[in-house]
Amino acid sequence: MNKSISNCVPRWMSKVIENKVCERCQQSAAKEDICAVGIRAFGRKKDTTFYVEHQCSKCQVRIITSFGAQKTGSAEELCYILLEQLQTQRRLQKAREFEPESIGKIRDEEVESFLSFMNENESHEDFMKFIGSKLQNDED
Ligand SMILES: [Zn+2]
Repeated sequence: MNKSISNCVPRWMSKVIENKVCERCQQSAAKEDICAVGIRAFGRKKDTTFYVEHQCSKCQVRIITSFGAQKTGSAEELCYILLEQLQTQRRLQKAREFEPESIGKIRDEEVESFLSFMNENESHEDFMKFIGSKLQNDED
């Protein structure tokens, strides 16, 4: 439920929610219970912070949690953090989609052997041999 919204929520925020227990029915909250995320002004100085709303999966009560104690910032800054979170999620998902195919991927050992080669050999000729290119003979 609302998987896309819980994905927008930075990990440190969803962790706070996951540690919550419903005051009405004692049900533990899960990050999947999150149904809203946003920014809000609070306090006399009108600082800006994040808030998250989640709905108890058992008794359906809705609870709003503000994060003024953990993070304040300008509205722009906070929006940017949420966007960054979305971008990271998207990148992770893409990486997962491509994982089964190893085609085109460079293994760590290959990188290491290349780097040690580069450290030991400096001539262009050696380099061309290493990458498998045939040197042309100019005497023909
Ligand atoms: Zn409840």
